[in-house]
Amino acid sequence: MDNCIFCKIIRKEIPCNKIYEDTDIIIFNDINPAAPVHFLMIPKQHIDSLYDTQDDQQSLLGKMLLLAPKLAKEQGCEDGFRVVINTGRVGGQEVFHLHIHVIGGRERLAPMIHSN
Ligand code: AMP
Ligand code: ZN
Repeated sequence: MDNCIFCKIIRKEIPCNKIYEDTDIIIFNDINPAAPVHFLMIPKQHIDSLYDTQDDQQSLLGKMLLLAPKLAKEQGCEDGFRVVINTGRVGGQEVFHLHIHVIGGRERLAPMIHSN
């Protein structure tokens, strides 16, 4: 995926503030954090969105989800955090390379859904 910004980060063509990497996954801080802790968990394999995941990616998805609480704690989220996967236009996805947001900090996060 030549023009995908996250693939460029994976290929090290664009720098990132990396907090974890292995053969399958790279994890780095969001460039525009929504809270004191805000990192993105990304599979190295380009997958457009959660819509595009397949049954044989079960272990990859599970691996990322299992890493989330470990890294959240390491990054200072001792009392909770939020995991978000924006998907598609309605979900507000801006970068079409699957990523898991992990968001937290000291204070309680704002409610995610506002009724109006
Ligand atoms: P989403 O709306 O779920 O697609 O979110 C995309 C996220 O990627 C946003 O929170 C951006 O701040 C973040 N982002 C975009 N470019 C970069 C980058 N070069 N390094 C780190 N985070 C980025
Ligand atoms: Zn990509």
